[in-house]
Amino acid sequence: MSETPVILQTRDLRKSFGGVHAVDGATTTFYEGKINGLIGPNGSGKTTFFNCVTGMIRPDSGTITMHGRNVTGWAPHRIARAGLGRSFQLCRVFPRMTVLENMLAAVQPASLREYIGNAHHRRTVERARAMLERVGIDHLENSEARDISYGQQKLLELGSTLMTDPPFVMLDEPAGGVNPSLIERIAVLVRELNSEGTTFLIVEHNMDLIMSLCDQIVVFDRGAQIAAGTPDVVQSDPKVLEAYLGV
Ligand code: ADP
Ligand code: MG
Repeated sequence: MSETPVILQTRDLRKSFGGVHAVDGATTTFYEGKINGLIGPNGSGKTTFFNCVTGMIRPDSGTITMHGRNVTGWAPHRIARAGLGRSFQLCRVFPRMTVLENMLAAVQPASLREYIGNAHHRRTVERARAMLERVGIDHLENSEARDISYGQQKLLELGSTLMTDPPFVMLDEPAGGVNPSLIERIAVLVRELNSEGTTFLIVEHNMDLIMSLCDQIVVFDRGAQIAAGTPDVVQSDPKVLEAYLGV
């Protein structure tokens, strides 16, 4: 993939919690316009890496470069403004708001006046409804988020992430705890958005999903990259088998 533009690079990234080296010298490259995957056994540092890259936690050392810009240590809102949308491993929806209200809350109005302005509000509602249809939960728009299933909440979370039209979307375990038909819906949506130009970085435990969805996969073990390449290359790498089987 040497000619493909790079969207995200980390160099010797490290983050420890007490004596635990969660991310331990991660040097990685992810590509623009692709569906990138990050896999690894439980506890291999994927979520910590994800949180460093999205600015949720500050790495102890190393660098993070996005679109060629050094964004190490930037706050999440600044990274988001630089073009990164994100979704959370733990579902973050407002439980007592309706599905539609959750979608509207994802959009930061430029000003209160703009928000109150009817035309703007109408456009935002239309967009929210179109997005709900796309993620397949438009029939639930008036339900409170706490009353819909966990899988539907994940779809709501994905939909609200997409409300701001981010060019780069990072998802941490979008399929975790989601039933197979909803996983398939997520996969279809990711493929569609990718064909429209959205870059993805998907951290996932579900190997089948990652292998069928991703163009390029980075494999972590013990906080660092042990392999990278296309699904075929990664799957036949003995280091990867070893990490997963724990030999
Ligand atoms: P993964 O997402 O690949 O399962 P994590 O990044 O969640 O891995 O965890 C990597 C290691 O760091 C694990 O040993 C985990 O217990 C530890 N860890 C993660 N977050 C914290 C934290 N906030 N405090 C202490 N240890 C943590
Ligand atoms: Mg994790």
